[in-house]
Amino acid sequence: MHPPKSALVIALLGVIFAVVPAEQVWGATPVTCSSPTSARPQATEYFVSLADRSRHLAHVSIRFPQTTGAIALNMPAWNALYQVRDFAANVENVRAADASGRQIPVVQSKTSEWEITTPGRCAVVEYDIHLDSGGPFGSQLGNDHGFFNWAMVLMYSPATRPQGMSIQLLDVPATWGLHDLHIMGAAPAGKVEQSIGVARNYDELADSPAEVGVFQRSDFQQDGATYHIVVHGDPHDYDAGKLQEQVRKITHAAVEWMADRPFDEYTFLYHFPRGHGAGGMEHAYGTAIESNGERLHSSMMPVASVSAHEFFHLWNVKRIRPQSLEPVDYQQAMDTRALWFSEGVTSTVGDMLLARAGLLDDQQYMNRVAAEINELQSRPAHRWQSAEESSLDAWFEGDPHYRSPQRSISYYNKGEVLGILLDLRIRQLKQGRKSLRDLFQWMNENYAWKGRPFPDSDGVQQAAESITGQSFVEFFHDYVAGARELPYNALFAFVGLQVAETTVSASTPGFTTSTNLGGQPEVSAVDVNSEAQRAGVTIGDRIVAVDGNPATAAVDDQLARVRPGATVKISLSNRRGQRTIKLKLTGNQQQMYLLQDTPSVSAEQRAHRVAWIHGDDENGSEP
Ligand SMILES: [Zn+2]
Repeated sequence: MHPPKSALVIALLGVIFAVVPAEQVWGATPVTCSSPTSARPQATEYFVSLADRSRHLAHVSIRFPQTTGAIALNMPAWNALYQVRDFAANVENVRAADASGRQIPVVQSKTSEWEITTPGRCAVVEYDIHLDSGGPFGSQLGNDHGFFNWAMVLMYSPATRPQGMSIQLLDVPATWGLHDLHIMGAAPAGKVEQSIGVARNYDELADSPAEVGVFQRSDFQQDGATYHIVVHGDPHDYDAGKLQEQVRKITHAAVEWMADRPFDEYTFLYHFPRGHGAGGMEHAYGTAIESNGERLHSSMMPVASVSAHEFFHLWNVKRIRPQSLEPVDYQQAMDTRALWFSEGVTSTVGDMLLARAGLLDDQQYMNRVAAEINELQSRPAHRWQSAEESSLDAWFEGDPHYRSPQRSISYYNKGEVLGILLDLRIRQLKQGRKSLRDLFQWMNENYAWKGRPFPDSDGVQQAAESITGQSFVEFFHDYVAGARELPYNALFAFVGLQVAETTVSASTPGFTTSTNLGGQPEVSAVDVNSEAQRAGVTIGDRIVAVDGNPATAAVDDQLARVRPGATVKISLSNRRGQRTIKLKLTGNQQQMYLLQDTPSVSAEQRAHRVAWIHGDDENGSEP
């Protein structure tokens, strides 16, 4: 059944492109006030020429057909990912012309702001922008493809940001055929003019990244919606049939779990590059996901995990939207205490959906829960940094020292654990008849469908209290706003489980790593008096390879499993260059947390456990 939809939820005016053949091979197609306009005139018209692909330079023209006086133009400093990246650094040669083609002065007034004054009715602002960062958080133009997160590419005028805008790609290679260009959005295919996308406002455009190039595409229908799977990667690296089967299971499980489908079309855009890559970015009508192509041969599970997380985001964060992130301020970091919920609890549900979809069995699911508990408990910072503080400090995550276990916890990790405990607390209070599922459906109906954001943690607390009729003041005070040790055993007892501590022997190279944006692992902590310290390993060094094999985000775990006393060759790089050192691994005892059965488990507890793992309410819904 299709539930009622609010204005926010039916914001379907996405953007769809087709392809225009290249008009000029050697340079960008010129755009002036008198060059043809789209069939649907808009307050702002963007033209993006892909002519200079080999230099990774996009040529952007912005035409304001109906304007006089001063226009301010801003380049966002950040987009979607909670890190200030100052996209203006990639902008060059900003210039402007009036209706007669005469150059008009451009004044750069701030790092990310330019001003022009137009004498006539029309003005065209032009600039070039260097785009060569791959992955879902980046934008890239090259000889093999283009991928654009538009907030990294297009300046906006604060005055016209809320108004309609069009975008047209120019100088697209003819070999990038008609179906080789796809953008997320929900406008019915074929109803939009060739090569021109239309968005209701800049924010909607920024949420509709585009892929152009040569890629594989498959579509399927399910539960009344059309899903697109678009892959830029080597077809030999993955099994397309298996990928679609996995996606189908996830989308059906989620739509059914939420009893809602606020879209008619949704796109999974996958980049499967060789040698690197991990991560995903959510959008209202799709997601962009990157995964290392070589590793897909051994397992598609990491792709399933990210896909489930990103797909659930279409509700949690895109439509169930925290107040602190609205309206988006593209010019500076935004303080929010809600990411533990918007990201972490999205992971809770993502894994639960995998179990519900049959992609994880019960034991695999519980192993994942135990791994999250381990991750949290092993970080000394969990004793003093709360989930809300970690959310606020999301903007520091680009800094390897900040990511060290002594300095920070992750709002993803603690949020995921809190989501599990919140679910168990609701189940315990309602004898399994209510759960996290009811909380999300309540928030969907009370915020998303009504088109209003929720008041951060207070809104989640209010939802939990509304569906249980019980107070959650302590839970939120102690565990969300506070850093009190989590009451694992009191809550896991409901499903006949307990958290047990044990010590295991492991190897360590004397340093700890973490990764940012799916890049190479970076050293985020060095043990005092370790061989690594004596060998000059410092925070921020990137681990390139271990024994000649490219290092991945899992390098710490891999080294922990090597025999103590073994010597490994580690290649590091930093600003001064690359070097290879030999390090003898030392053995140490590590604290480890296991999720295991309580001494006796009743049939009732087993039934609770099965319902909990699969996100079900027991005995149907309470009246
Ligand atoms: Zn996320």
